[in-house]
Amino acid sequence: MVVDPRQILEILRRVARGKGFTPLHEPQFAGREWAYVKECIDTNWVSSAGSYVEQFETRLADVCGTKHAVALVNGTSALRICFVIGGAKSDEEIILPALTFVATATAAAYVGAVPHLADSEPETLGLDAAKLKAHLGRIAKSDGKSTVNHETGGRIAIIVPMHTFGHPYDTDAISSMAHAFGIPVIEDAAESVGSYYRGRSCGLLGLLSALSFNGNKILTSGSGGAILTNDENLTRRAKHLSTTAKFPHAWDFNHDEVGWNYRLPNINAALGVAQLKQMPGFVAAKRKLARKWQEAFAGIDGVSVFVPPTCAESGHWLTALILSPQSRHLRDDILALTNAAGVMTRPVWKLIHHLPVFENCPRMNLDAATDLAQSIINILSSAKHSFANAA
Ligand SMILES: *Cc1c(COP(=O)(O)O)cnc(C)c1O
Repeated sequence: MVVDPRQILEILRRVARGKGFTPLHEPQFAGREWAYVKECIDTNWVSSAGSYVEQFETRLADVCGTKHAVALVNGTSALRICFVIGGAKSDEEIILPALTFVATATAAAYVGAVPHLADSEPETLGLDAAKLKAHLGRIAKSDGKSTVNHETGGRIAIIVPMHTFGHPYDTDAISSMAHAFGIPVIEDAAESVGSYYRGRSCGLLGLLSALSFNGNKILTSGSGGAILTNDENLTRRAKHLSTTAKFPHAWDFNHDEVGWNYRLPNINAALGVAQLKQMPGFVAAKRKLARKWQEAFAGIDGVSVFVPPTCAESGHWLTALILSPQSRHLRDDILALTNAAGVMTRPVWKLIHHLPVFENCPRMNLDAATDLAQSIINILSSAKHSFANAA
């Protein structure tokens, strides 16, 4: 059965309700945001030192159940620092999904590494562990501690799975294959605050993880990111490198390597602390909205709402429609119709190697990611819609 674009618009409109433009994902400021930000201004603590930064890190670590959180200016810089302290060097390879936001690949390029693109699976929208294992078996040599791509000569330094739209990737499968090759896993957990895999929090499933608190994510600090880890040394490294590699001292300037100015400003952390206090409500609202969308699209021809496997308890950052193979050719018609009507929808990202700067990246067969890229449409996902009458 082929999808009818007008029917999709009609269903989306029932939820959008308001006149004018309805964004895909809006932040919600219903807590102490104003008071905390004002306090930063009233006390002059607006920049990278201040009590909200520490509060944000402590609360975030609590919420996620990790020992340490390091707050940074955005998710992209969090990925970059993760790759540096995770041991990726120039000309080494970092395995990441072809189906991800460009920042995963950009951060690899920042450290001089080469993104090596892997396929995704339709069940989770995350990396396909079995396919990746078979691919590495063909192109790489491993002694169980270190793995080298014998086609390019590059060491494979890191595997970076990503929890697409907040849905956990198949963690057990990825972890065990990565372990067999002796390759550390660093999670791109930018979209998965509030998501769990078999009861374990996303962001705690590898050596390190990078989170994002951009304005369109579940929880926002305006712009912001964080690194989560249980490793004390890595935490110290992350703080040091993101604070211009400066040693604390009462008055002197001592920097022992090339660092970055990547710490989260206090004013952003203040916003983040206020948002963190509302986290349980945000996640509950997103889950409710996801169920509403599933009901609204049940029985509609040519399209379904993506539902993660039962071992996942997703935060449902963005709801995704999946077009049937017979309906994919109508994807752009649906996008054009809905956006022209003021109801924001988006395709999923272009596959990384379809971007000119990454077109020559080493890659495996990407059939599943290619299918997904043609079939996904993200629809209205703001927490506030869960209170509107969807179905
Ligand atoms: C948002 C996002 C990032 C980058 O986060 P910023 O805070 O915008 O730099 C990285 N990876 C994925 C998958 C994202 O969705």
